Amino acid sequence: MSVSLQQHLQRCRKVVYDMNFTYVDAWRQQHPQGKVVGCFPVYIPREVIHAAGMLPVGIYGGGLEIEIDRADARVQSFICSISRSTLELGMSHYLKNFDAMYFTSVCDVARNLSGVWERNFPSVLVEYIHFPQNMESKSSVPYYSGEMRGLCQNLERIGNVTITDEQLRHSIQVYNENRALHRQLTTFKQENPGKLDASELYLLQRAGACLPVEEHTAMLREVLDELPRREGKRRDRIRVVLEGAFCEQPPLELIEIIEEAGCDIVASDFALGLMWFLEDVPVQGNPLENLARSYLTQSDYSSVRHYGLKRRDYSLVEKVRRVKADGVLFCIAKFCEPALIDYVTHKNTLEREGIPLVNFEFEEKMGVFENIRMQVETFAESILLFA
Ligand code: SF4
Repeated sequence: MSVSLQQHLQRCRKVVYDMNFTYVDAWRQQHPQGKVVGCFPVYIPREVIHAAGMLPVGIYGGGLEIEIDRADARVQSFICSISRSTLELGMSHYLKNFDAMYFTSVCDVARNLSGVWERNFPSVLVEYIHFPQNMESKSSVPYYSGEMRGLCQNLERIGNVTITDEQLRHSIQVYNENRALHRQLTTFKQENPGKLDASELYLLQRAGACLPVEEHTAMLREVLDELPRREGKRRDRIRVVLEGAFCEQPPLELIEIIEEAGCDIVASDFALGLMWFLEDVPVQGNPLENLARSYLTQSDYSSVRHYGLKRRDYSLVEKVRRVKADGVLFCIAKFCEPALIDYVTHKNTLEREGIPLVNFEFEEKMGVFENIRMQVETFAESILLFA
């Protein structure tokens, strides 16, 4: 029996904000020998974890659900909230059932957090994945597939399992299906903004960081089946691209306020790490080389990924035109250096191209949004006025 969209949304909300990770406990009961791997954003090659029969779980900090208490003794207070509250999750034993934590080379904060984790949780396998920085070097594929081979070996050791190429190919196929459904859902929102709120899309996609991928895929299929029959709301809104929230996630209320203030968010980078590739990763051939090649040539643009021949600000302009957006909202986590650095070039290029933009910062614990609401309302009205 299929579950209704409303039931799926309720389940997603519960899972996304469950800091006790009860869904992880449920998975463990069904997989007594299984291991759980925490994945700090943005992008993690989850296929290698899945191929080991383990559960990758996105760790996006504590949001509004926990207070920072112990973490401030180990990291500075002037870094992004997600890194502080993620450490708090660890120090306060919310992650006691996690066997490994993965961090990647997205920024100095994430790098340092992996070191802090290693020192404070010596029984946990901590991986710090160095992504390739030169997208055109012939050495990048062997280098990055070698990195992933190392991940496999460590998972084999802690799980007492063997990861075969066949299992990796199967996992690539499984994640290809899931990413394709993410893309379909995003396209549905772009074509029918009145039928799916951005906060609903957010919950549906973000649950994919928590649930077993097969379960999330089945859920997205049911949702995509039901959505066309949903009644759409008529609304006079501008279409916007939301940029900058690729790692730390804004409070759900902020996403709702942006839409209430007159903007349909038709593209965003909330689920960037879960979608990541613009096309399917090839299944045939050497699976780790395929993942590495796709990282180099098929990744979406991002402030945390080195670019090849195409500049990120040009990719943003292309996206704005492709989704027929009226403007761009820069919604940037406080102290997030990659996003703040990119904002400078993005802003200059958008202004040169005549694309309206507005920017504001957020943090996890933000509870008052009136200033942002006014900023966004003024932005939307000014565009509607001259439309
Ligand atoms: S929010 Fe920004 S600064 Fe913080 S860990 Fe993520 S990418 Fe790094």
